[in-house]
Amino acid sequence: MGFYKTRKWINKREKVLRRDEYMCRECRRYGKTSAATTVHHINQLRDHPELALAEWNLISLCGRCHDKMHDRTTDALTALGQAWVERMRPTLEIL
Ligand SMILES: [Zn+2]
Repeated sequence: MGFYKTRKWINKREKVLRRDEYMCRECRRYGKTSAATTVHHINQLRDHPELALAEWNLISLCGRCHDKMHDRTTDALTALGQAWVERMRPTLEIL
């Protein structure tokens, strides 16, 4: 998808990584510090393109945790990925 090559995304991704201090947010929940390598869309881009650049919808993750958010074959959210959607749902309702 061309979106990931856009300047808007590249800038936003960098901003989110900086916000999260380049650390994985999922690991942080368990008191671990891992370097973040990916910025994940909590509400998936394909379902919520309007949230593509919403900072609250973006979290920095390490590769391991990002793999745990998506089903490898279908790319659908796993239970863990869905848990983040639920965690952020109040934000979606306010907007
Ligand atoms: Zn992690």
